[in-house]
Amino acid sequence: MKKIIIANWKMNPRSRQDAMNLASAIKFGIETRSVEIVLCPPFVFMEKVKQILNQSEILLGAQNVFHEIKGTFTGEISVPMLKDSGCEYVILGHSERKRYFHESFEDINKKIIAVLKSDMIPAVCLGDDSIIAKSDKLDGIEEQLGIISRNVPKEKLNKIIFVYEPAWAISDGKIPSDILPDSNDVLSAKLLIQKFLASVIGKKKASTTRIIYGGSVNTKNVKNYVGKNLMDGVLIGGTSLRAKEFIKIINIVENIKC
Ligand code: PEP
Repeated sequence: MKKIIIANWKMNPRSRQDAMNLASAIKFGIETRSVEIVLCPPFVFMEKVKQILNQSEILLGAQNVFHEIKGTFTGEISVPMLKDSGCEYVILGHSERKRYFHESFEDINKKIIAVLKSDMIPAVCLGDDSIIAKSDKLDGIEEQLGIISRNVPKEKLNKIIFVYEPAWAISDGKIPSDILPDSNDVLSAKLLIQKFLASVIGKKKASTTRIIYGGSVNTKNVKNYVGKNLMDGVLIGGTSLRAKEFIKIINIVENIKC
């Protein structure tokens, strides 16, 4: 299974030109053929970033979408609009969307169904949404999985990328490393997600589903998260805005033997 690195640029950078420069620095700075790279800029920069990414293997993703196809939904962006912009992946259910925009797991479920219908790939964030870690770090994940997978066609469930990303671990290097999840934590999350999937689509298909980690990933800790018996990739926020460090992470992941 190809490992994947998804860059969540959030509401950055400031201008179209900066977005193009960043995409360009990444495009020309990497040599990878074995790791899938997805850049998720803000909507308004997607078209320009796509132009930069042409003739490269780097793919375009979005940070959100609305589940309806068209209509009176002021301020929203639809799945066909994303497809038309050359988008192939969509991050869904990020904890910042839940915290600031009150997105529920029921909303996320509708979005997943809409994205899968159009043959794009949803990267769905799961995990504890509180700012401070609970003692049970996997608290709530099973319930979240149950809601987000409702009415998702079984044959499409393994197309979803499941992102274990507890809200308390997000924050671009500002979280002390001893508080962040370690290899055992991410492995436990992976096994829990795989167990759920196996109960719905069987063990074999469950093992073909990509399960990744997100939260303060950097050049120093990425090896704790990706690798044999660990995660199939990472979702990166802050560090993905610094081309040199992001490329370093890509090179580290590229050289991890699985
Ligand atoms: C994120 O918000 O998806 C994320 C992974 O952020 P950071 O890497 O900055 O913690």
